[in-house]
Amino acid sequence: MRSRKGLFWLLMGVLTLANCQTGAAQGKKPKVVILATGGTIAGSATSQTSAGYQSGAVAVDALIAAVPQLKDIAEVSGEQIASIGSQDMNDEVWLKLAKRVNEILAKPDVAGIAITHGTDTMEETSYFLNLVVKSDKPVVLTGSMRPSTAMSADGPLNIYNAVAIAADPTARGRGVLVTVDDDVHSGHDIVKTHTTDVGTMASGEAGLVGATLFGKQTWYRTPSCVHTSKSEFRIEGVNALPRVDIIYAHANMSPDMVTSAVDHGQGPRDRRCG
Ligand code: ASP
Repeated sequence: MRSRKGLFWLLMGVLTLANCQTGAAQGKKPKVVILATGGTIAGSATSQTSAGYQSGAVAVDALIAAVPQLKDIAEVSGEQIASIGSQDMNDEVWLKLAKRVNEILAKPDVAGIAITHGTDTMEETSYFLNLVVKSDKPVVLTGSMRPSTAMSADGPLNIYNAVAIAADPTARGRGVLVTVDDDVHSGHDIVKTHTTDVGTMASGEAGLVGATLFGKQTWYRTPSCVHTSKSEFRIEGVNALPRVDIIYAHANMSPDMVTSAVDHGQGPRDRRCG
């Protein structure tokens, strides 16, 4: 015999499905929020062929306005989280971004989130979000290698693809994704491999999660590592992250860097002081 609780959830499921179908029947587009953090994708240069530019100079509304085709695939709104080159990414912005992602995704009417970000630390931000976002809805980072003012800027199509993936129900449950240059990577695996090449992002042995062609996805795999809603990491109530130094090790290195890291480390020093 079916329990009362079981019947309740069955009813909720039917109502949700009916709601979605009504939305689709009414021609409503899925809601996607773009969170902007800066980067080359929001970069501005003095000429279309200039290699130098100012990172994060263009605001989210201008980025959205530059891709009018977005309105054909989603109901898009934008929020400015930061306006920095991602070489300057830090714990404060990470925590602000991750908390905002969780808040927005908790709204039942939001389908997914696209995040514009510099490419230098995109792998770190996507890895972090992959551990602390508490939702199966799509979260898709994107960036560009050419500033928004460049000849053949790669940002607009990357934004279009990121929004299309964020709006795509088949992207759910695949963890935090990154799309650049028509590829779809897992935030767990992505690595920036080149300073200027448009095809800079790679996923090494793990391989791509999928590919996108003008907003239409082909999926190759679902990342199997623990992520998002199944991850044990939580950021509610967390306002600072512990310091972790990464040291480049090489033959014949002196111990100075390690000694300095240990001296500045929080554990032993705090215990000595405490
Ligand atoms: N330095 C830039 C950044 O990471 C590079 C880029 O966006 O491609 O913001």
